[in-house]
Amino acid sequence: MEPFRLMRMGVIEIICGPMFSGKTEELIRRLRRAKIARQRVVVFKPSLDNRYDEIQIVSHSDQRIPSIPVEDPAMMEYCLTQLALPVEVIGIDEAQFFDSSLIPLVENWANSGIRVVAAGLDQDYLGQPFGPIPHLLAIADMVTKQYAVCVLCGAPATKSQRVWANHQKTPSGEKILVGAHDAYEARCRGCHVRGVDKAVVVASHENETTVV
Ligand code: ADP
Ligand code: MG
Ligand code: ZN
Repeated sequence: MEPFRLMRMGVIEIICGPMFSGKTEELIRRLRRAKIARQRVVVFKPSLDNRYDEIQIVSHSDQRIPSIPVEDPAMMEYCLTQLALPVEVIGIDEAQFFDSSLIPLVENWANSGIRVVAAGLDQDYLGQPFGPIPHLLAIADMVTKQYAVCVLCGAPATKSQRVWANHQKTPSGEKILVGAHDAYEARCRGCHVRGVDKAVVVASHENETTVV
């Protein structure tokens, strides 16, 4: 038999969608199953995303899995060289925050037999394609586009609505951090407002903040 037929085939799986669409839940579900099958799994997340935990990936429904926070894709590659045994599955959360150097790495990993599962926002809050995700979608073997529930009308939501601007403060006086989850809402196309939805800020937090 030709040797390459004995090799395990790698694959690129992308899980995308807006905020709250269950991307992290789905990533965790797939990685847990791989661990049950005793596959060697490594999970990365961008170190800037420490909203819930420094070293775990945490979903909005509080599901958790240990991960390695990395500053850039090169650090992922370095981490892999430090492992005693070759990895079989690589998980990446919030992949939209990495630069385009992630793309050739993901492709090389898949070509060398690794299953790569990456989750990330396909669009930013303006509805624009986000970071390396559009390219990864194009080269993926398997794409899952998830939906959240539109908080205004209940329809399937494909967009992330920003409801607070960076310089604004919440009613309790906290400064909004980029990515803070109460700064965003899931919205359908019809309810999505490009940019910050000032109408909702005024309506729901009247007298408590200045809308500019
Ligand atoms: P993502 O990674 O896509 O932001 P998570 O996997 O972290 O999403 O969280 C998904 C969970 O978020 C859902 O199972 C649900 O409990 C919760 N959730 C909160 N708001 C919404 C919403 N508007 N639509 C759907 N799920 C929501
Ligand atoms: Mg997530
Ligand atoms: Zn809607």
